Amino acid sequence: MGPDSLEEALALRAERGDEATVLAGGTFLGILMNQGFLAPAALLSLGRVVELAGIDVVDGELRLGAMATHRSVEDSDAVRSGWPVLARAFSLVASPRVRNAATVGGVLADADYASDPPAMLAALDARAVLRSPRGDRAVGVGELIQGYYETCIEPDELLVEVRVPAQPERAAYRKFRSRSSEDRPCVAVAAVRGERLRVVVGAVAETPQDFPDLCDGSPDEVAARYAERIEPLSDARGSAAYRRRVIAAEVRRAVEEVSWTRA
Ligand SMILES: Cc1cc2nc3c(=O)[nH]c(=O)nc-3n(C[C@H](O)[C@H](O)[C@H](O)COP(=O)(O)OP(=O)(O)OC[C@H]3O[C@@H](n4cnc5c(N)ncnc54)[C@H](O)[C@@H]3O)c2cc1C
Repeated sequence: MGPDSLEEALALRAERGDEATVLAGGTFLGILMNQGFLAPAALLSLGRVVELAGIDVVDGELRLGAMATHRSVEDSDAVRSGWPVLARAFSLVASPRVRNAATVGGVLADADYASDPPAMLAALDARAVLRSPRGDRAVGVGELIQGYYETCIEPDELLVEVRVPAQPERAAYRKFRSRSSEDRPCVAVAAVRGERLRVVVGAVAETPQDFPDLCDGSPDEVAARYAERIEPLSDARGSAAYRRRVIAAEVRRAVEEVSWTRA
């Protein structure tokens, strides 16, 4: 199924629910299908729904359409000037070939623990807009991503947009790769200093790790607390013990990056 409009896509989603798998850029689904892990009865492709591909700024808030590609986010003048840290996080995903296809909606809806954008979007307090015939609801990344490949998206809902509040000047994204330059992160750290410091660590547990109660103190103190609080997973990119040491180093560096003061 390849609807031409958002209205048609929403009607098909409401009618078919999980019986039709939503297809965005296909970079995640394609691998699952090629490897035989998934054999959808039907696909609901959003590829022709141009209304979902926009990138706009409305009242100082960035609005990324669910079908905006990683490449279009990274290349957008509006994102580069107002949300440079987000352009950076998207630019560090995989390779240009993947970024030309992978979408904003896809990277949130697949809820892969080892992704870059979710931690950065969480630190910027972004909200994903989920739409169905029942209406819209806006959820934070922490509510959207519930576990390994699990989200709160209901079978009649589509993720249509991501809204990102203004980026405070002091914001950093650090991606630590342990294997190759195009790999997913072993540890990802997003730090934003607005009125308060916010630090979100990705790729180390099933969901982005966000602990506002640990964010007062020096970079060393915040880093030591994050390394102690997080229960890191082990995978091919690093053991739990290795990740804990990387978390301590990378959180400290990220907090230092957002802690400068003007001379
Ligand atoms: C070789 C390779 C390297 C990669 N490296 C990185 C990396 O370094 N960092 C990183 O962050 N990511 C990485 N990725 C992951 C890549 O970014 C994701 O595969 C991608 O973001 C998924 O987006 P997509 O548009 O292709 O989604 P799809 O594959 O089309 O869909 C993904 C999932 O989301 C659902 N979905 C998609 N859009 C919607 C929507 N609007 N509403 C509801 N459900 C929806 C689909 O049903 C599916 O379950 C890599 C992928 C590949 C193939």
